[in-house]
Amino acid sequence: MNSNIAGKVVVITGASSGLGEATARSLSVQGATVVLGARRVDRLQALVDALTASGGKALALATDVTDAAQVKALVDEAVRIFGRVDVMLNNAGLMPHSPLERLKLDDWDRMIDVNLKGVLYGIAAALPHMQRQKSGHIINVSSVAGHKVHPGSAVYSATKTAVRVISEGLRMEVKPYGIRTTVLSPGAVSSELMHSVTEPDVAEGIRQFYAEYAIPAETFARMVVFAMSQPDDVDINEILFRPTDQEL
Ligand code: NDP
Repeated sequence: MNSNIAGKVVVITGASSGLGEATARSLSVQGATVVLGARRVDRLQALVDALTASGGKALALATDVTDAAQVKALVDEAVRIFGRVDVMLNNAGLMPHSPLERLKLDDWDRMIDVNLKGVLYGIAAALPHMQRQKSGHIINVSSVAGHKVHPGSAVYSATKTAVRVISEGLRMEVKPYGIRTTVLSPGAVSSELMHSVTEPDVAEGIRQFYAEYAIPAETFARMVVFAMSQPDDVDINEILFRPTDQEL
């Protein structure tokens, strides 16, 4: 068991599937307490039941990250029950790619609300506790798309670029409190992310891309474990990783 993971209280948004779920499983096996938020609370509860049955400590709370009060309630509940919050993993996100000319305003709004404002609400919820504790670790999920834009990814890439910018600003501002910050930028990783694509032709292209290239969600979990398990005086600020075969 890794001593810098065991016993930590980790809040994860978007833990009902994909990268968040895989990370919850991995951290729980390594002795972390996981507090899980997402909208599909049945999925979260099934995960909590499985982790608890294996001897882990886990808690689920229905959380829509577009509502700052719900994100605050998630983190406050972690602190109320487990006494602290060591890691805030702002992971919830969606990727409804489409060319701008299709004017998918609802998709644009949802990406800004979940991918960008959801991360800000996660920071707002965790930061006061971590400042008081004088320790903590905020991990935000960006993407290769936060480093590159291609036709169809403009709004998604904008939100993920913003996550990187916010993470860097946060990194510099939290120095007085001993808080670490990490931004994780994955390439294609297997998950349910493609279900969020609303344009059928775009979805088919992404499905084929993921079928060819995607690596397992546990890959992402290993990156979280790597960042978390460094000694407290080492801050892994960014990890950008791709499937070895992925060119984009
Ligand atoms: P999934 O679709 O499998 O998971 C997305 C998670 O986000 C789900 O748990 C979903 O839960 C949650 N979510 C969506 N909207 C909300 C909301 N309004 N409030 C709370 N939770 C919400 O995809 P991934 O696991 O792949 O995505 C996780 C993160 O990784 C995202 O930020 C994504 O952009 C990023 N990413 C993924 C890559 C990949 O290839 N998979 C590559 C680069 C980045 P629910 O629907 O139950 O609310």
